[in-house]
Amino acid sequence: MNRISVAGPSITDLEIEYVTDAARNAWYERWNEYNERFEAAFAAYVGVPYAISLPSCTSALHLSMAALGVGPGDEVIVPDITWIASAVPSTYVGARPVFCDIDPVTWCVSAETIERAITPRTKAIVAVELYGSMPNWTEVLDMAARHGIPVIEDAAEAVGSEFMGRKAGAFGATGVFSFHGSKTMSTGEGGMLVTSDRAAYDRCVMLRDQGRNPATRTRLWNEEIGFKYRMSAVQAALGLAQTERMPELLAKKREIFGWYAARLGEMRCLTLNAEPEGVLNSYWMTTVIVDEAMGVDKEQLMARLDAVGIDTRPFFYPLSSLPAFAHLPDVRSAEERNPVAYSLSRYGINLPSGLNLTETDVDRVCAEVREALPEPARV
Ligand SMILES: *Cc1c(COP(=O)(O)O)cnc(C)c1O
Repeated sequence: MNRISVAGPSITDLEIEYVTDAARNAWYERWNEYNERFEAAFAAYVGVPYAISLPSCTSALHLSMAALGVGPGDEVIVPDITWIASAVPSTYVGARPVFCDIDPVTWCVSAETIERAITPRTKAIVAVELYGSMPNWTEVLDMAARHGIPVIEDAAEAVGSEFMGRKAGAFGATGVFSFHGSKTMSTGEGGMLVTSDRAAYDRCVMLRDQGRNPATRTRLWNEEIGFKYRMSAVQAALGLAQTERMPELLAKKREIFGWYAARLGEMRCLTLNAEPEGVLNSYWMTTVIVDEAMGVDKEQLMARLDAVGIDTRPFFYPLSSLPAFAHLPDVRSAEERNPVAYSLSRYGINLPSGLNLTETDVDRVCAEVREALPEPARV
């Protein structure tokens, strides 16, 4: 039987057409055309005025830190459960991440979990929209405004999600996206920074281009030391086609979740991704948390599915538990501070959620999950 992949994009003739045109023609006077079109289309999709195409979401986070003036001695609050890229860019500017707990329902930060981690050194907050889920943005932004701390919105996993009718990426001082091959929208590797703040936009445009100010007349005039963070035209062409197809990609992600929910939603020992009132979840990855009482941890369940040709991923390990951060002063006591992060992480896995998935694949996955987790008959 074919292996079922855990993640992957949907590529059609539209992508091939744009990419072919970019490879042939996006040079000379047309060198920036696809980047401009991609940025304009993506900003319109998210509902913000400014977007900057970048080589990765990691670079978008790095630029956000630099533009917000985060520096040596500062602390940046990051949820303990996320991909490591949410936390690492704080260290590129000499700051350090402080890991906060997540909410048991949304699996994202909440006003309360962030507030417990604030100190006089807190300079920024990275709020992650885990697996397409949304935090309660009203409460998070109110709390952050009260403390005067800017929020960077890590929407890498949430393109297309909504909270109260507003799209992911539109809530933070900056919103950052990833177009890695595993994400809902892909350019192979790539990222985007969006913002509604003209000053932040101008600052990021300058910093990402070796400190060149596009407003100055001399092309090779560097006003300060910056970074080289540009996306190629061929990638931008892929991104433009994917942006035009976003409604379709989002519908497919939601359909995949619906297939799983119809087969696993009734199992009392499982919790699936949440979609509270007022939220539209883009379900980047359908995820199940197995009830602790079943005595099956994530590694056991993953090994069992792997043996029958089903690729899965572990729910992220708490960042505070990783060797990469073992040098930080407060990680040893993190399990006490972040009990939700630690308990969910132990029993969660991401099920196959690639955009090539069929309902027959989902049947096969769900049959194996049911067999691995026999529930007592209902009375
Ligand atoms: C994928 C991901 C990133 C990093 O994206 P890259 O494009 O690989 O740099 C950052 N944050 C989260 C939450 C992610 O899932």
